Formats: sequence, C-alpha cells, structure tokens
Amino acid sequence: MRLKKIYDYMIIGGGVAGAVCGKLLSESGAECLIIEKEDAPFEKICGGWMPYKCLQLLRTSGYCIESLTEAGTAVTNGVYVSRNGYETHFPYRNGEFGIGLRRKLLHSYLIEEAIKAGCTVKYSCCADNITQIRDMYCVNDHLAHKFIMAIGTGKAGNLKGRHLTKGQSIGISEIIRAKKKKKKDHVYFWYPDQSNNYFWAIPIERDVWNIGWWTQSNENVKNNFQLNRSRYIEQYFLDVTTIRKAIGALCGNIDHRKWFDSKIYGIGDFAGCNSFETGEGIYNAILSAKQLAEKLIKKGEN
Ligand SMILES: Cc1cc2nc3c(=O)[nH]c(=O)nc-3n(C[C@H](O)[C@H](O)[C@H](O)COP(=O)(O)OP(=O)(O)OC[C@H]3O[C@@H](n4cnc5c(N)ncnc54)[C@H](O)[C@@H]3O)c2cc1C
Repeated sequence: MRLKKIYDYMIIGGGVAGAVCGKLLSESGAECLIIEKEDAPFEKICGGWMPYKCLQLLRTSGYCIESLTEAGTAVTNGVYVSRNGYETHFPYRNGEFGIGLRRKLLHSYLIEEAIKAGCTVKYSCCADNITQIRDMYCVNDHLAHKFIMAIGTGKAGNLKGRHLTKGQSIGISEIIRAKKKKKKDHVYFWYPDQSNNYFWAIPIERDVWNIGWWTQSNENVKNNFQLNRSRYIEQYFLDVTTIRKAIGALCGNIDHRKWFDSKIYGIGDFAGCNSFETGEGIYNAILSAKQLAEKLIKKGEN
C-alpha cells in the first residue's frame, strides 16, 4: 500500500496571504501544501494598487520585487479629489513609489516564489470539506498536521462562513483602455460625498486603468458606480473602451475564524485583515501571513 505524504501545513487558498505564508514556512524547513481552487493564477477582482509601504513589506519579507515593479506601472503621485473638485496631491518623495498592476501577475509571482522555497501547490483543487483524522486534517485526500485558511472572501463549498454582513464594504472594478488627459503616473481617488465611499483610477499597464467604486452601503452599488464612472472617467480620460466589465466583490473585513475550530489558523481577508474604510487588503494579507508564519516558526510548530 502506498502511504500518503503528510504535510506539516496545509494552506487553503493560493492568493496573496496563502502564497506568502507558504513561502515563509517552507523556507523555515516545513513541508507545506497550498490548495487552490482555480486552475492557475487568475485576475481577481481588485484595484491592483500597491502603495509604497506594501512594496517595502514584500522586500522585508524576502522578496526581490523588481519583476513586479517592471510588470506594473510606477505611481509617484496620489491625487485625492474632494466633492467640490478640489485636488490634493500626495507626491512620493526620495525615489519612493507605489505600483498599479494586474492581480494575475502578483499571484503568479507570489506562487512562483512559494514553489521556489519548496512549497507544493495543487491547482484546480477546491477544499469543500475538512475532516479530522486523529490529530490531522484531511482535505480532498491531502493530510496535514496544521491547517491554515487563506480563502479570502470566496465561497468554500460546505465550509461555513461566507456572509454579507450589515455594514460590510463592497467594491466594483472595471478594467478599461483609455488615454489619460494629463499625467499618467498618478493614482486618483475621488470622494463624491462626505463618507468613506470613493471612486478610483489606477494605472495598471500602458493606457490600461483599473477603475472602481468602493462603498460601505450595499444599496445602489451598480448605479453609483455608473454615475461616478460617467462623472469622472469622461472628464479625465479619452478613447475609453472596456477590457473587463465591472464586477463586484465583498470586502474581507469580517473575521471568519470565529466560525471554525480554534485550532484552525486564518490569514488575509478570511481573518478580516482588510481595511473597512479603504478596502486595501494586499498589505494586510501579506502582514497577517508573515506574522502567522513567524509565530509558528518561533513556536517550533514545524
Ligand atoms: C473591488 C475590490 C478592489 C480592491 N482593491 C484593492 C487594492 O487596490 N489594493 C489592495 O491592497 N487591496 C484591494 N482589495 C482587497 C484585496 O483584493 C484583498 O484584501 C486581498 O486579495 C486579500 O488576499 P487574500 O489572500 O486574503 O485573498 P485572495 O487573494 O482572495 O485569495 C484567496 C484564494 O483562495 C482561493 N479559494 C477560495 N475558496 C477556496 C476553496 N474552497 N478551496 C481552495 N481555494 C479557495 C481563491 O481562488 C483565491 O485564490 C480590493 C478588493 C475588492 C473587492
């Protein structure tokens, strides 16, 4: 009889948090398996904005991010536009910059780094059911001593926990090809009212922009997106065509760990590590993965 390999860690979800955690744990010598339901890195619904502090965090987590900065668009200025049209510019200084990029590229890079560190990745593998066999966890025939949930806000088969909770933020993002009327290396955030709701335009490739609407009210989300799209995009851009139509998604600001066995670890959006006000979760997904990996390594749990 062929015995199944037993991993130290099984990580469900090969997004930002899962890939970072897989890399860091593998580097410490642990045997890690990432299970990802998609068949390859994919274009997740996201603005694709990574501010400077996010790039710095990747650097201090051992990533050499030059390939990301080459693939994305360097942004040297943040522009906040108030409802009366007043623009406040936040230029990066001392050679600092953020980047806008396609999420698919970020996923591919982070997963490749995890694999290089020795992590095993299984694609097209949706974790529908977790069972416990003595002190081990079993998912779709894979066995591990420890179990880490990194599924974002995605559905998880019969696993509990996906809720649209009152007050939870929602975002809609569309990818357009368009020419900017003024400078290119700017990221724009428009605040049409006095709440935290905002509309964005992030340069992700040459003449390609990720535009979207972030809101804390789940009423009229699509209408508000269209309203602000015509209000701002028509004013700032020329020759607009849609590359990927507008799609909405939930904010990962609800901690789903409370619905699970306390021995199950959680990181990223799954663990509510997202900013309710801004929706910027890539930084928090990396940070939570790094902190968990460091804690587990320190405890010698591998
Ligand atoms: C519209 C919108 C715009 C946003 N814009 C930004 C932005 O510009 N900058 C920023 O920093 N953040 C942004 N965010 C937030 C950011 O996308 C998330 O916080 C971040 O992706 C969370 O990373 P994660 O690893 O927790 O989850 P994810 O990156 O979503 O990864 C989860 C992974 O788990 C997989 N998975 C799910 N269920 C299963 C299962 N049952 N079995 C196996 N695999 C499974 C998924 O396929 C996915 O690959 C935005 C969010 C939205 C909704």
